[in-house]
Amino acid sequence: MEIDASIWNAIYIRGDQPTTCPKCGSRIDWLLDLQHVNNQPAIVQCLSPTCKFIFVEETDETPPFNKIF
Ligand SMILES: [Zn+2]
Repeated sequence: MEIDASIWNAIYIRGDQPTTCPKCGSRIDWLLDLQHVNNQPAIVQCLSPTCKFIFVEETDETPPFNKIF
């Protein structure tokens, strides 16, 4: 499976509900989850075999950097 730069065109904010695919609503799997490190975005893939949409998920939490001010 290839992950190219186009995934950065599809960035979604993680909400209160468990994340589902924004295209088909299926369950998702985290390919790469860096959100335990400074709220970095996660790379997520839809588990539907007919969809397999890959997107980037971010939190809406304020990064610690901005809390200095
Ligand atoms: Zn999907």
